[in-house]
Amino acid sequence: MKGRFMRSLCGAAALSLVAAGAPLLAQNATGPTDADLMADASSPGDVLTYGMGPQAQRFSQLKQIDASNVSKLVPAFAASLGGEKQRGQESQPIVYDGTIYVTGSYSRLFAFDARTGEEKWEYDARLPDAIMPCCDVVNRGAAIYGDKILFATLDAHMVALNRHTGKVVWNKQIADYQAGYSATAAPMVVKGKVIYGNSGGEFGITGAVEARDVNTGELIWRRPTIEGNMGTLNGKDNGITGKTNASWPGDLWKTGGGATWLGGTYDPETNLLFFGTGNPAPWNSHLRPGDNLYTSSTLAIDPDTGVIKWHYQTTPHDGWDFDGVNEFIPFDATINGKPMKLGAKADRNGYFYVLDRTNGKLVSASKFVMQTTWANGINLKTGRPNYIDANRPGAPTTAKGTSVFASPSFLGGKNWMPMAYSQDTGLFYIPSNDWGMDIWNEPIAYKKGAAYLGAGFTIKPIADDHIGALRAMDPKTGKILWEYKNKAPLWGGVLTTAGNLVFTGTPEGYLKAFDARTGQELWKFQTGSGVVGSPVTWEQDGEQYVAVMSGWGGAVPLWGGEVAKTFKDINQGGALWVFKLPK
Ligand code: CA
Ligand code: CA
Repeated sequence: MKGRFMRSLCGAAALSLVAAGAPLLAQNATGPTDADLMADASSPGDVLTYGMGPQAQRFSQLKQIDASNVSKLVPAFAASLGGEKQRGQESQPIVYDGTIYVTGSYSRLFAFDARTGEEKWEYDARLPDAIMPCCDVVNRGAAIYGDKILFATLDAHMVALNRHTGKVVWNKQIADYQAGYSATAAPMVVKGKVIYGNSGGEFGITGAVEARDVNTGELIWRRPTIEGNMGTLNGKDNGITGKTNASWPGDLWKTGGGATWLGGTYDPETNLLFFGTGNPAPWNSHLRPGDNLYTSSTLAIDPDTGVIKWHYQTTPHDGWDFDGVNEFIPFDATINGKPMKLGAKADRNGYFYVLDRTNGKLVSASKFVMQTTWANGINLKTGRPNYIDANRPGAPTTAKGTSVFASPSFLGGKNWMPMAYSQDTGLFYIPSNDWGMDIWNEPIAYKKGAAYLGAGFTIKPIADDHIGALRAMDPKTGKILWEYKNKAPLWGGVLTTAGNLVFTGTPEGYLKAFDARTGQELWKFQTGSGVVGSPVTWEQDGEQYVAVMSGWGGAVPLWGGEVAKTFKDINQGGALWVFKLPK
């Protein structure tokens, strides 16, 4: 704490010298630096990044709240997002200098007092009527840097606000919402650049990762994710992504999807950004023979230039909307006696992949859901799935192709909700779902701003007792050590702590805590609406706090099909809940 205070004083002094006559802000005028962001995982007094560290392990060293006392956890306060705009609240709070920043549905950003819950300010983006989010009007969180707080909006803008006042510092359009682009992921800041992806994979957009100067909003580099498209660096061409037409026929790469809609992670050790890419467009795979690079993949990108250093494609020639956007979390472990720099990803296709994060080489792949009808394992030599060809939806002849049953459903063995990695237990905690779908293909042609699927579907349950399952995965063996089953689909992020705890929320409205080693449920609290946000923890005034957003929504109630009966009675909402132990 002392270090930060001193840095702030020095920063404030420097600022007053540069901008002579400008009023000196009372507190922490400079705010988090690049170094602070990189050290977020080891600074328990704040939560500065989406993922609680650039590697997004969502692991806290704090252990004042532990498996023996978590049953006593009580609310410190709750803060309503108010208004009538209560849709899915998928946000992760950012906590800094006595303020909790959360984003809300319909592209809103709130600053609450971290001790009382009183609102300091609120920013409501003025959204056009014709925005085209596929899967609810959500936002997953903000990024903080210096005196700014930044977030993306549903009309595909990146906005930087003054974090003390909520006033706009800069606002840049990142893509054309009328062509189906939107943005919902939390951005990240690496080396003074705000880095983010785009959304719109169901509208034939082209996925990209971009980096802007965090202080001015000027574009530094842009890297499209679909082969054939040109990247840029400092306003100049910087090479085509992949090789034109190597894995795409004709002009389809121009509308090829590969949205980077979940954002990325960053590993300071290898200086690599990791971004997942979504489905190829259209869904109907018979229209686009080939692997369709770099869709449904993990990309390792140089943060300084936007050049792709390696790729690993989890679902080549995807035909099920198995977006590969899921977060790739760096971690270190010893495999076969060899210490390795690894990364793990629980993919929407139902497999948990461990890669060598220095080169993208596959180390292991293990099923983490009940069923994968589309493939029978992953070939460790080639890195490719062993496809079961009969279970790919058929080519449409006139109106509709052969319908097949596929599991996981297109909503995935795991969707957007982030898993957590415990440095204590060495386990990943995966919020997963067991469900399937009937899926068939239809003819389709690209039309700007229109859905570009060429497919139809109905989601179905595959188990009597659950859809959701929180699973503890050992990345060294691929074994699931415990699981907690939930009736409704799990749709919230996970947090793990050195107090031997795992926290996650349920659509039924509970924030729950589990023993990280055994999976025993130790505590739950009813928040009044479904929990689909990502919990965080920090230390303030000598006490450990836990916070989560409550507010049911997201893709499930929009696309849930026959599984909708598990959540039809859940009420909407929009509140930040903050907990601590009684004194
Ligand atoms: Ca921190
Ligand atoms: Ca998709």
